[in-house]
Amino acid sequence: MNTQLTDTPVAAAAAGPSLLLDQSVAKQLLFGTVLEENLFPYPEISEHDREALAMIVESIDRFLEDKEADFARWDRDARQPDDFVQALRDLGLFGLIIPEEFGGLGLSNAAYARVLAQTSGHDSSVSLTIGAHSSIGMKGLLLFGTGEQKARYLPRLATGEMIAAFCLTEPGAGSDAAAIRTAALRNPDGSWTLNGEKLWITNGGIADFFTVFARTDGPEGKITAFIVEAGWPGVSRGQHEDKMGIRASSTTTVAFSDVRVPPECVLGEVGKGFKVAMGILNNGRTGLGGGAVGGMKALIRRAVAQAQERRQFERPISGFGLVREKIAQMTVDCFAAESAVWMVAHYIDSGCTDYSTEAAITKVFASEAMQRSAYEALQIAGGSGYMRDMPYERYTRDARILPIFEGANEILRLFIALSALKDVGTSLSELRSAMGSLFNDPIKGFGVLSGYAGRRFNRATGLGKEGVDAPLAPPLRPLVAVYENYARAAARVAEGSLRRHGKGIFERQYVQKRIADLIIDLFVGLCVISRADSLLRQQPATAQQVVEIATIFTHQARRRMVRNVRGAAHNEDQAIDSLAGAIIERGSYPWDVL
Ligand SMILES: Cc1cc2nc3c(=O)[nH]c(=O)nc-3n(C[C@H](O)[C@H](O)[C@H](O)COP(=O)(O)OP(=O)(O)OC[C@H]3O[C@@H](n4cnc5c(N)ncnc54)[C@H](O)[C@@H]3O)c2cc1C
Repeated sequence: MNTQLTDTPVAAAAAGPSLLLDQSVAKQLLFGTVLEENLFPYPEISEHDREALAMIVESIDRFLEDKEADFARWDRDARQPDDFVQALRDLGLFGLIIPEEFGGLGLSNAAYARVLAQTSGHDSSVSLTIGAHSSIGMKGLLLFGTGEQKARYLPRLATGEMIAAFCLTEPGAGSDAAAIRTAALRNPDGSWTLNGEKLWITNGGIADFFTVFARTDGPEGKITAFIVEAGWPGVSRGQHEDKMGIRASSTTTVAFSDVRVPPECVLGEVGKGFKVAMGILNNGRTGLGGGAVGGMKALIRRAVAQAQERRQFERPISGFGLVREKIAQMTVDCFAAESAVWMVAHYIDSGCTDYSTEAAITKVFASEAMQRSAYEALQIAGGSGYMRDMPYERYTRDARILPIFEGANEILRLFIALSALKDVGTSLSELRSAMGSLFNDPIKGFGVLSGYAGRRFNRATGLGKEGVDAPLAPPLRPLVAVYENYARAAARVAEGSLRRHGKGIFERQYVQKRIADLIIDLFVGLCVISRADSLLRQQPATAQQVVEIATIFTHQARRRMVRNVRGAAHNEDQAIDSLAGAIIERGSYPWDVL
C-alpha cells in the first residue's frame, strides 16, 4: 500500500482491481501517506457510459442550444414553463441514474456528473431541476429503499411522472440539520402522523415525491426518513421564492399538517434518518461538482470569445497579460475541479466505502473554483459583463448558491478536517480515549464519521524519492514530490495540533480550516497529477498545456500549503478572534475619518 510512487508501474496497472475499497486517500494524507493505488492510473469512463453519454450529450445540446434568450427570460420571470419541464421528461433526464430494470438509463455516478456538466453549460436552473431530483430527491430511495418501495416509485420517477425533492432544512435547522423540529408520531396501527414545515426546498413547487426527515425521538434514534407523496392530505407548498440566482429553479416551503404516512414509507431504518440524510448528500456531491465544471467550461468559452472580440488600445484585450492570466487561471481551476470530481465519482462507482471526505473536498473546491471563474469572466467582459443582456451576471448570481447549499463550505471544511483528524487522534495512544468519545459525537450536521481503522501513525513514507525507473511522465516527477513532502508536513501539523489542543481541537476552527485546506490542496493536486499523467500518454497533442496546468496548480498549491503549515505555529488566530469579538460586541465598525 505504502510503496514508492516513483517505483510503481502505475501506468500499466488497471484502475479498478488495484483500488483499496475501504481506504480513504484524504484521511491517509494526514498520516503522511499518498495512497497511490486509489490515485493512479486516472480512471476512465466505462464503454457503456461513453456510448450512452455520446447520445445524451448530443440531444441535450440540440435541445438547449437555441434557448439562450429563453433562459434569460425565465431567469427574469423566475419560472420554468411547464412545457419545458415536460420536454426534460421526454428527453429522459429524470431517469439518468435509475437502473434500466425500472425504466431509467442506469448511468454511473461519473456519467451522471458529466450530464450535469453539459446541462450547466447551458443553464444552471435546468441542472438544478434535474439534479435535485436525482442527486438528493430520490437518491435515498436508490440507496436505502426496500425492493417494494423501489418497484412502487422508481418507474414513475424514471419517466418524470413523479419529480422528487429532498426535505431537510427548516427555519431553525440549516447547517445544524440534527435540530429539525418536524415531528412524526407513531400511531397504534404502525402508521405515522407528520407535522412541520420545510424551508427552501428545490423542486418544492413541482415535486410529487418528497424524501422527508422528521424527529421520531425514541430508543432507535432521533430522526427518521420518510417517503411522502405530494398528493396526500395535509401536504402543501408555499410560494416560489424570489431568489438571487438559479431563479427559474423551483424553491418553496413544503408543509405537513397531520399527514398520515403509512408504515411502509419509512426510508431506511427507524431512528437512522440522519445517516440516510448524510449518505444521500455524500453520494450526490459529485453531481454538484460536475455542474460546476460544466459552468466553468462555458465561462472559459465565452471569456475567450469576448477577449478576442473586444479591442482596446488598438488590439484585442486577449493580448494583455492581465487578461491572459485570468484565462489561464480559469483553465487551471476547471482542470483541477474536473480531475477531482471524476476521481471521486469513480470511487463511488467502484464501491469504495469511505469516500465522504473526498466528496466534501470536491464540493468545496469545485464550488469555489466556479466562483472565481464567474468573477473573472465578468471582469474580462468589463462593463458589458455587468449588463443584463450578457449572461455573465446571471452566471455570477447562479454560481453563488454553490458554496451555500448541500452543506455550507465552512461546515464541509470542518468535516474534512475532523473526519481525517479522527483517525490520527485515535492512533495516538495517549489521546485515544479522549478522541474516541469526542469524534463519535461530532457537531450535529457534520455527518457520520467512519469507525477507527486502527492504523499506525506513519510519517516516513519515502515517497518523495526520485526513482530511476519512475513510471510517471518526467515533467510530473518533481511535482509529485511536492505533494509527498507536504503530506508529511500535514501529518506533522495534525499530530502537533492534536497533542497541543487535545479535546480542545474540536473548538479550534482556525486550526481545522488550515488542516482542511492542506488536505484539499493535497488531494486535488494529486488528482491533477494523475489525470495529467494519463493525458500525457493519451493526448500528446495537448502535452505542453497539461504540464503547464500541473505546474501552475502545484506551485500555487505549494505556496498555500507553506502558509498553512507555517500557520500552525505562527498565526494571527488570537488577534482575529479578539477583533471579531470586539466588533460583534459593539455591533458595528467603530472608526470614521470625520
Ligand atoms: C436556493 C436554495 C435551495 C435549497 N435547496 C434545498 C433542498 O432542496 N433541500 C433542503 O433540505 N435544503 C435546501 N436548501 C437549504 C440549504 O441546504 C441551507 O441553506 C444550508 O444547509 C445552510 O443552512 P442555512 O442557510 O440555515 O445557514 P446557517 O446554518 O444559518 O449558516 C449561516 C452561516 O454560518 C456558518 N455556520 C453555521 N454553523 C457553523 C459552525 N458550526 N461553524 C462555522 N460556521 C458555521 C455557515 O457555514 C454559513 O456561512 C436550499 C437553500 C437555498 C438557498
